[in-house]
Amino acid sequence: MENLIIKLRLPSWQNAKIADAGKRIKRDNPETKLQAIPFKYCEETRHFLFTYLFYIKDTQPNNHSSKTKMIEKIHKTDEEWKKLLGPERYIAMRENGTEPAFKNAYWNNEEAGIYHCAACDLPLFHSEDKFNSHTGWPSFTQPIAADHVELHKDCSLPDPCRTAVSCARCESHLGHVFDDGPEPTGERFCMNSIALNFEKI
Ligand SMILES: [Zn+2]
Repeated sequence: MENLIIKLRLPSWQNAKIADAGKRIKRDNPETKLQAIPFKYCEETRHFLFTYLFYIKDTQPNNHSSKTKMIEKIHKTDEEWKKLLGPERYIAMRENGTEPAFKNAYWNNEEAGIYHCAACDLPLFHSEDKFNSHTGWPSFTQPIAADHVELHKDCSLPDPCRTAVSCARCESHLGHVFDDGPEPTGERFCMNSIALNFEKI
């Protein structure tokens, strides 16, 4: 999509003025397009008058800057999730299950890499934020980006209520977050390994 940003009506011999205007516009908008349309013939100067139209590309059609860009959701039926995830992952990720401590893939993984959502592949955690919480589950001080996870109040256990963490794209359950973590955030994102796929870097 392109937006018209300036319209000049000048005789063609005023090239310098047109070039100046063009330079100024192009400096801020490198992809400016110029269109010259003959407007009328001027008897006095024996030149055509042209209408000069400067266009720039509309790079933000939805008025969303990259900072406020929302994660686009993925929606599937329960049947589709069951087929995609298999029974174990389905229970953990779609029925808020918890895998056994110390008997999971990443609780003691110390390799450098990125942990992705096992259901939709959204990057969720970086190994730099992983720490040994001695709980038997992979634990992180923060997600890779704040808007890649969503937090929900979870009062499924008698007391106290906990804060459940889900993937912002597919809304699959990932684990819980507690406020007894180390610096720099003081938070402990306690995740199920089965909800994650590790990619070495
Ligand atoms: Zn996901």
